[in-house]
Amino acid sequence: MGRVLPRHDLVHPDGRSFAVYGEFPGTLEGQPARTGHDVSGLHRRFDRLTGTWVLVSPARNTRPGGQVTGPQEAACPLCPGGPELPWPYELAVFDNRFPSLSPLAPPVTGPLVAPSVGRCQVVVYTPEHDGSLATLTPQQLTSVVAVWRDRTAALWADGHISVMVFENRGAAIGATLSHPHGQLYAFGHLPPVTAAKIAAHDAHRRDHRACLGCTLVAEDDGGDRVVVANPSFVVAVPFAARWPFEVHVRARRHGLGRLADLTDTEVVHLAQAVHDLVGRYDGLFGFELPLMMCVQEAPPPETGAALGDWHLHVEFLPPHRSADRLKVRASVETALGVFINDTSPEEGAARLAAVPGRPLSWHGVAVPSIVAGRR
Ligand SMILES: [Zn+2]
Ligand SMILES: [Zn+2]
Repeated sequence: MGRVLPRHDLVHPDGRSFAVYGEFPGTLEGQPARTGHDVSGLHRRFDRLTGTWVLVSPARNTRPGGQVTGPQEAACPLCPGGPELPWPYELAVFDNRFPSLSPLAPPVTGPLVAPSVGRCQVVVYTPEHDGSLATLTPQQLTSVVAVWRDRTAALWADGHISVMVFENRGAAIGATLSHPHGQLYAFGHLPPVTAAKIAAHDAHRRDHRACLGCTLVAEDDGGDRVVVANPSFVVAVPFAARWPFEVHVRARRHGLGRLADLTDTEVVHLAQAVHDLVGRYDGLFGFELPLMMCVQEAPPPETGAALGDWHLHVEFLPPHRSADRLKVRASVETALGVFINDTSPEEGAARLAAVPGRPLSWHGVAVPSIVAGRR
């Protein structure tokens, strides 16, 4: 019998949904209904110049801004018993108190505006306050990927057009809490980079009669931009990397487009690839490298013709150029969308590949079966 991880679906009196993993976590009844959860001003506006939507979220200005470090650590809202999760838990996913997108977004009327319908969630990896994807145990990492698979399946089933698991790590990326956690955004509209990728898959299929995802895997695997690889994923600096140490973790298997498509074996292989890579990032300059980690899943079939060609990929985007210099997304990148990378992708890959890996024993690690918890 494999490992079972109970999931408890709770609703906070302020309207937010919680999925809490582990043995019986308790209840959110009795929590204050007025908590600062505020979606009253949420809406999105269409920018006719670029053809893109901008999310307007005025309430986010009231959220806590600073790093939670030093003496404030005791006030961590994500630790068990804290204000967000007032009981023991193994992992937890819950609606952000300060969302940019919400199922409760108010209706808006008029031209060029739309309701900011969607979901913004916090994904807490572990009850322990210190740690990261590089230091969690193999079992914890495997459970994190299993929970990604569980929650994204639910968000796609709700009819969202785009779903992204991500982590903003480090003060340089604006992370305000150090407790190991990531986020989940689900959109009711198609983000522009996703639209560009859909067009690229369609064009590659049309022009080359081939899968773009399979083509990228074949080009990366075993070449001079590969960092590491395992039977299910190739970890490589992309051919046209935008950031000095940008790395994509790409699924080898044609047909593996979403986290929900992962087999249990692939869950473990993804956990291993992520652990290995983040460990290399931390070894690169000898400190926990700030980074953006973005899981790119296949959009719904109705958004493109060749979406069967989309291979699940996780993009790691660290802003550091060197130990003490950050690449700033400055005028040319921001105003024109043209990236200037001063590190050759081959050099970036060689430097990451040269960092000694931190091998762990994955023997006996079990992908948990997530089941509805008893109340
Ligand atoms: Zn904490
Ligand atoms: Zn393919």
